[in-house]
Amino acid sequence: MSCNYADGLSPYENKGVLGLDEKYDTTENLQLKCGILTEWINTSRHVVIHTGAGISTSAGIPDFRGPSGVWTLEKKGLKPKSNISFDEAVPTKTHMALKKLTEIGKVKFIISQNIDGLHLRSGISRLNIAELHGNIFIEQCSKCNKQFIRNAPTPTVGKKSLGTLCAPERYGRRPCRGQMHDTILDWEHHLPDEDLTLSDFHSSVADLSICLGTSLQIIPSANLPLFTKKYGGRLVICNLQPTKLDKQADLVINGNVDNIMTIVMKNLQIQIPDYDSAFDPTKKLNPLPIEMEWSIASRQIKDLKELYNIICSPGNRKNKSKSRREK
Ligand SMILES: [Zn+2]
Repeated sequence: MSCNYADGLSPYENKGVLGLDEKYDTTENLQLKCGILTEWINTSRHVVIHTGAGISTSAGIPDFRGPSGVWTLEKKGLKPKSNISFDEAVPTKTHMALKKLTEIGKVKFIISQNIDGLHLRSGISRLNIAELHGNIFIEQCSKCNKQFIRNAPTPTVGKKSLGTLCAPERYGRRPCRGQMHDTILDWEHHLPDEDLTLSDFHSSVADLSICLGTSLQIIPSANLPLFTKKYGGRLVICNLQPTKLDKQADLVINGNVDNIMTIVMKNLQIQIPDYDSAFDPTKKLNPLPIEMEWSIASRQIKDLKELYNIICSPGNRKNKSKSRREK
């Protein structure tokens, strides 16, 4: 059961604001706002998407702080009714739309707090995503730090040992023999360095940050969209519940994220591809070694740092007075 992973985490009291009422824009307002969002996507140079549990609820995976969220129900001594396994869940319309948008360059980067692996399974490239809280379909070596795609969810969470060794013969690499562990963060764990560094740079160089299905309560993830504002970019929030950043957003859309993405993709005249297990790397029976690796290349960070130095240098900031006022 997908929600069982939460049971594997340590007890933790401060889980944020839980169970706030969900709001829906009227059909007319939704169309109007999606029209504005489409125009901003079309006219932006560097679009970054921040995703949370709200984009996976239509796949049957419960969120955390919604009215039927894992933590909301936990407080009442209850469990979510939905019990789909991570294996059974498939990427949603939103995951597939985002995969397509990254492929054609309309979206440069996705920063996800989700551990369900649905972005990976949509067939997205590692070049286009940071996974800040881990991924249930990824294992990592404690010695060489390389990450590899698994064909089944990890049996553990909380960066525990899987009891297996980094097997270079599987990946055509030199002997390593480090211990493999899962990548799912527990409450006290630091975020993965490389994913966080890329997220910082992308959020800063972005001229449009769009938050989808996240109540933005967990830091540092929730602070990243503000980097876009700091350097003069726009912030759009698409969520059913109010978020901590609504007041700072240029546009807030209260609606189902799949509906929002369907309207936006129609406006963009781009078809949302269907999920296809042939492009799902967790379903590959005889993958090439290179297809199984999920590590971030150091070259990626170097390139982004260069872009950051150009775009975010003091002389190049697009709207200094705006960013000062907001500070
Ligand atoms: Zn290794």
